[in-house]
Amino acid sequence: MSSIAFAALLLAGCATIPADATRARYLMGTTCTVTVPAGEEADAQAALDEIARVEQFLTTWRDDSELARLNAAADDVAVDVSPELFALLDEVSSLAETTGGAFNPLVRPLVDLWNTRGEGSVPAQSALEAALARTNPALARLDRAHSTVALSRGAAFEEGGFGKGYALDRALAVLAQNGVGRAFVDFGGQVSLFGWSRGLDVAIAHPEQRLEPAVVVTVESGSIATSSGSERTFVVDGARFSHLIDPRNGRALPPRGSATAFDARGLVADVLSTALCVLGPDEGLRWADAHDVAALFIVPNPVSDAWEVRTSRSFRSHVRAIRLVAPNLTVKDQ
Ligand code: AMP
Ligand code: MG
Repeated sequence: MSSIAFAALLLAGCATIPADATRARYLMGTTCTVTVPAGEEADAQAALDEIARVEQFLTTWRDDSELARLNAAADDVAVDVSPELFALLDEVSSLAETTGGAFNPLVRPLVDLWNTRGEGSVPAQSALEAALARTNPALARLDRAHSTVALSRGAAFEEGGFGKGYALDRALAVLAQNGVGRAFVDFGGQVSLFGWSRGLDVAIAHPEQRLEPAVVVTVESGSIATSSGSERTFVVDGARFSHLIDPRNGRALPPRGSATAFDARGLVADVLSTALCVLGPDEGLRWADAHDVAALFIVPNPVSDAWEVRTSRSFRSHVRAIRLVAPNLTVKDQ
């Protein structure tokens, strides 16, 4: 029997894996826990140091990071960026394009307008349209030959939808380089792992009771990211909104369950789980099947108080096993 690492969606810290050691640190606004074989604690610390390094150049919660300085640069000025930041923004922009704009790393003006980093507020339509115009992907010009980025008309990058996934990839790279045989890194709504040849059970939280596991999947390696519209919500005039924004119309989404993406790479899983949540289950599963993406939705059943689990075709081939562990949960076949 493999042990269960209660992981996704703020279920951090409940891994009960024998003969392993954990090290935890508060990073990127949440607790990150690294589990490695006992005796390799120094490598767990090195992985956390690597995440701290990524946070330092990527955070826009402070003004002095490399990304914050790029966002603050004058319109249309080509800014020299480090090869690492350039490669990351370039890849995220390409991934965003494949989602048809459901994921948009330039969503920042809308995040500010809806104040989803703060208490949340509902903007006037005219302000919404102005902010929406500033999220057009054409407003970020990435020059690969010179490793420069120029932003126009007050466009700005928002790292909230992809930073943790990238940081997880870097943490796993450090662990692998240091010769660690197996590791499990729990970063709140996303986990990454490798080396679990007998399989590790990872819990995906219930969208509305984040401390309750809803689905357990068994995997050997890879990354599992869950985006939940039911997390961090705010209410205005009786209407509930989430911190996820649909960049196609500029509106904060209502809470409507969660979307989970599995991918070999954390960056991809992070971007895709957010995109899938924006697309919703019908459009999201069609998109996932067309792009061979491993996706799982936990969404309210439209006619009862139960919840439905819906998966893309490739989800089951990417995980060894999948179990429903919460009551009131049914599988809906496509
Ligand atoms: P996640 O929890 O990974 O889905 O990321 C949610 C965060 O991504 C939000 O708090 C915002 O910072 C950012 N975000 C919200 N909507 C989008 C979107 N449509 N595309 C890209 N980033 C988004
Ligand atoms: Mg994400």
